[in-house]
Amino acid sequence: MSPVFDVVVVGAGPYGLSTAAHLLGRGLRVAVFGRTLEMWREHMPNGMLLRSHWWATNLSDPRREYGFEQFAKDSGHERGYPLPIQTFIDYGLWFQQRAVPEVDETYVSSIERRDGRFLITLEDGREVESQAVVMAIGVYYYANRPDPFTRLPAKLFSHSSDHRDFGRFKGRDVVVIGGGQSAIEYAALLHEAGAAVEVAGREHRARLDQLAMGSEALVVLSVPRSVEGLVQCHLPLRGDPLVEA
Ligand SMILES: Cc1cc2nc3c(=O)[nH]c(=O)nc-3n(C[C@H](O)[C@H](O)[C@H](O)COP(=O)(O)OP(=O)(O)OC[C@H]3O[C@@H](n4cnc5c(N)ncnc54)[C@H](O)[C@@H]3O)c2cc1C
Repeated sequence: MSPVFDVVVVGAGPYGLSTAAHLLGRGLRVAVFGRTLEMWREHMPNGMLLRSHWWATNLSDPRREYGFEQFAKDSGHERGYPLPIQTFIDYGLWFQQRAVPEVDETYVSSIERRDGRFLITLEDGREVESQAVVMAIGVYYYANRPDPFTRLPAKLFSHSSDHRDFGRFKGRDVVVIGGGQSAIEYAALLHEAGAAVEVAGREHRARLDQLAMGSEALVVLSVPRSVEGLVQCHLPLRGDPLVEA
């Protein structure tokens, strides 16, 4: 028989962990599935700086025991601005170990309604049942890879969330598409990694068209307003071994 929970939380990012901490605080039987801080650990670049101030970066627990200030006291991390991404990752893991000690890192593959409950099937084939499900799967699935780029070989362009380490762009020409805070920051990080970077936003329409026509190997993304700044891509310029391969 499948284990039965009061609530299953799908996602172990900041929102999933905070939600689970409050549910556990109410004495409920809770299961949490997902990779702890996965977006932060695997889909954001090394060296990134947080937009939010440390005092606006608290994860939430019912007794307010595990705020960022307490973490900084325990760990010796600085509370300055801006916070490096690694400090936030360390904080998230510190929070998870204390507030939500049991996270099952298996992905959920399907959720069905059955006999007044939810039947949750995990990627490894296990099944659990729950009275309620909280979805906290974040923004990763909203990455936008519009035409014409989807028709290009995958190795010739990518989305910002595909990268953690920009080291492989050393010595390459890279175009970042976008004009928001993220685009500028990614361009700076690429520059620091040794790439020759060009930033192209909406105002560079002619340049974007030129790139899309393939007069030079390159990329364009239209960036919906709702996710502006989260979407960039890159392509090696003509002459790059990847283009010629
Ligand atoms: C480049 C960038 C910079 C940002 N900077 C900041 C900042 O400075 N300050 C700020 O407050 N916010 C920032 N954000 C926003 C940040 O992503 C959110 O604040 C936060 O991560 C959202 O948390 P979440 O728990 O909703 O989702 P996420 O952190 O995205 O976590 C999603 C969770 O869902 C899990 N999951 C996904 N699919 C499944 C599945 N099928 N089964 C089980 N689990 C699954 C993942 O493993 C993960 O645990 C930034 C975002 C980006 C992209």
